[in-house]
Formats: sequence, C-alpha cells, structure tokens
Amino acid sequence: MLLLLQASSFNLNFLAGKSPNLNLNFPALFPSPMEKKQEKKRARSTKGVGCKSTVEDIEDFSSQEVVKIRASLLRWYYENQRVLPWRINQDEEKEEGGEDGREARAYGVWVSEVMLQQTRVLTVIDYYNRWMEKWPTVRHLAEASQEEVNEMWAGLGYYRRARFLLEGAKSIAEGGEFPTTVSSLRKVRGIGDYTAGAIASIAFKEVVPVVDGNVIRVISRLKAISANPKESTTVKSFWKLAGQLVDPSRPGDFNQALMELGATVCTPLSPSCSACPISDQCHAMSISRNCQTVQVTDFPMKVAKTKQRHDFAAVCVIEITDCKDPEFWKAHSENTAFLLVKRPDEGLLAGLWEFPSVVLDGERVDATTRRKAMDQYLKKLFKIDIRKNGSLILREDVGEYVHIFTHIKLRMYVELLVLYLKGGVNSLYDKENENSIAWKHIDRKSIQGTGLTSGVRKVYNMIQSFKQQEPMNPTRATRKKASKH
Ligand code: SF4
Repeated sequence: MLLLLQASSFNLNFLAGKSPNLNLNFPALFPSPMEKKQEKKRARSTKGVGCKSTVEDIEDFSSQEVVKIRASLLRWYYENQRVLPWRINQDEEKEEGGEDGREARAYGVWVSEVMLQQTRVLTVIDYYNRWMEKWPTVRHLAEASQEEVNEMWAGLGYYRRARFLLEGAKSIAEGGEFPTTVSSLRKVRGIGDYTAGAIASIAFKEVVPVVDGNVIRVISRLKAISANPKESTTVKSFWKLAGQLVDPSRPGDFNQALMELGATVCTPLSPSCSACPISDQCHAMSISRNCQTVQVTDFPMKVAKTKQRHDFAAVCVIEITDCKDPEFWKAHSENTAFLLVKRPDEGLLAGLWEFPSVVLDGERVDATTRRKAMDQYLKKLFKIDIRKNGSLILREDVGEYVHIFTHIKLRMYVELLVLYLKGGVNSLYDKENENSIAWKHIDRKSIQGTGLTSGVRKVYNMIQSFKQQEPMNPTRATRKKASKH
C-alpha cells in the first residue's frame, strides 16, 4: 500500500512537469479490471471492420487517458499558448484579484468568444482592442446604442452577434451582477452553451466543458469518431467526453488548451501530429498507422454543406447634389450626399444601413427592367419628382458584385445615379414619408469613416473606382430618358 502511494506521488510530480503549481486533480493512475477490458475492446474495434468507430461505439475516456491527456495538454498549453489580449494567466489574475477582476475577465472572455465565432483570431485582435477601449466594462457597453455597436462591428459580419452582445449587456447591467454559472449565463439572450461554458470555466472556474469546432475535431480524432458530428446524439457525446476531460482544478486553462490545440496543431487539413502533446492517446493516429486507407483527417466525418440559395438584387448608389451644372458637379463631387436606407429589424443584416436595393426575380432580369423596378422603389420611398424639382446628372451601370453569406450567394447589379435637387438633399426631408422605411443621408467625408457592412463598403468602393477609371460624361446621361421618380 505504501509502495503504491509513493509510486502515485512520483508519477504526479513527473506528470506535472515544468508547472510546479499545477496541483492537478488526477483520478486513479492504474487501470481497473473494467478499464483494462475497455482498452482491449477499443483495440479490437480499431483493428476491425472498416477501421472506424461510429456513434454506437463511442466509449468514455478511461481514467488513465484522462490523466495523461490533462497533464500533457496543460503542460503544452503553458509553454505554447498564444499571447492574446483577452487572455490573462493565473498569476496576473491573482494580482488583479477580487470580484471586479473576475467580472472584467468574464466580460473580456464573452466579447472575444462572440467575436471569434466565424472570424479569425488575427482579425479579432484589432476589433477587440478597439471595443475594449470604447466600452471597458459591461456597464459601459450597456449604455451604448445599437448604431454605435454596429459601427464598431462593421466588417466582422454576422451582425446578430453584435445585437445580442448589446442586449445581453443591458440585461446584465439591469440585473446588477454578472452571472457566474452556466445555468445563469444561459438565461442571458444570445449566450449559448458554448459561450456560457467558456465564461463560467475561464472567469469563474466552474468545472464545465466547452465544445466548439476545434474541440469536436480534437475529440473526434482522439476517439476516432466517424459519426456525423452535426447530429444531436453525436454532439451530446462530444459534450459528455469533453466533460470527462476537463480538469477540475484548472477548468478554464484546460478548455483553452483543448481549443488551442485544435486551432494551432490539430488543424482541419494538415495536423502537426509529430508536435502533438497527446498523440500517444490519439486513436485516429494509431488507426492510420495500422490501416493505410485511413488518415487522421478522415475525422471528424465530412458533412455535405447546405446548398446555397442564389439571390439577385439591383443596388442604386444615389448621390444628391445641389449643383445644377454637370461639369461643376464633376469637379466638386465631394460636396454630394449619399442616401442610405435601413434594413428591416428582422432577417438578414437586420437594422443595418445599405444603399437602396430591390430584390430581383432571378438573374435573367435585364437592365431596363432593373431600372424600372428601382425607379418605382425610389418614387415610393423618396417621392422625388425629378422634372419638377431637379434634373438627372448621371446614371450609369457600374458593374456586378457577388457577396457570399453563409447560405446565400447574393449577386448585386450596381448602378450610380446622380441627381440635382433644388434645395439639395434637405428638400427630401420635407416630403411626408408614409412608408415605414427609415433612411438618412451621409456626406462623402463621413461615409469614409462610417462603419458600413463589408458588402456596402465594397459597393461604395466600386463606385469610387468607376469614377476614377471612367472619364465620366454627364452629357451621356442627359441623353438618356429621364428617370420618372
Ligand atoms: S495526434 Fe494528430 S490527429 Fe491526433 S490529436 Fe494530435 S494532432 Fe490531432
């Protein structure tokens, strides 16, 4: 008995390696007869038919595997973690101390995790730093307007995330305290299982797992799981397995280590298995050695992507000038104003500003029909009577631009429309707007610094390059039939 205790103590120190304060909470180091039986069964299944396991075959991690994976992964993480602005190591956290420190950490983890969904780390760093400078605490964020938040978010895409962050901050500020557990965090609008797990484990040390794409990939390979990773039963298995691995004394560090391994070593297409700290526990690796037709990248199973919908839209960039002379406008086009309309509060790009656009029936809609549709829309929206109140200076097709959303491929036919209006853009505000569509104008200088979605920014840049490349000929436009706004 004494010998056994000494052996355990020696192994614990050995496994703790270069991190003297690890204090890892290890389960039994020596496999029980049941665990030995499981190992044999696993070995048989990896050599067996098809060399792969399915969801029915997914077994728990053995205590031995848990011990080794925790120790190796944490040691690797402490030596190799990337320095990122939202990460504070344990010692710094102690110095920061107290409830405020934990709340600050929770807020930082929350913002970074939301930004990192669908966006690369390198892109997020700059956004995160600017965000924290503007709204250093959840209470500062709660005071912000949706407009300001969208502007800060511009270019990150998936604007629903920004809306939920603001709504979540408002509800936390109203409640008075930052929720500290997964169950209380899940009650905040926009915080799902993953984000709740990340905040609770990293900032408040709750012993809970997190499962994102990186974790799914690493666990799929560790356990050689070839079941469909999108199916709910498989997802449940990933959460269960990640829960078995999470280290009770350092849940936040362990979760970050697992995600970090997936992001930097166990990558989707070319994992660096020779540099992997847990390759000895990796079943995909051992199967690929014994079975030539199998590679570690076969895990997780590739799932066919949902077919993209193809949409088409006519987009009109409207410049309003108070200068009647087309030649003068050419020379002073920096004095013009652009019209932007607000998208509906629900659906794609909800509540964001864009150039006036009309959804088309399909790609076979010709230029004349597109213009007619746009004219009708503008007449309804702005009630412009061009013959009474002004004149058309230029109307040109500028080109096409395809913007890819997750499930939608949107082809935009972009045109530039320059109008002279008596009284300039302000005369538009005199018209009674019966439609519920919100719109505004923005001058050329301000549009440069305004947070626009990447699609709108792209359209604006198209217009600017068109103006630079094409010697604009306003007289050509005047020859065209005047638009009936
Ligand atoms: S050995 Fe290779 S496949 Fe297995 S976990 Fe490590 S990096 Fe991933």
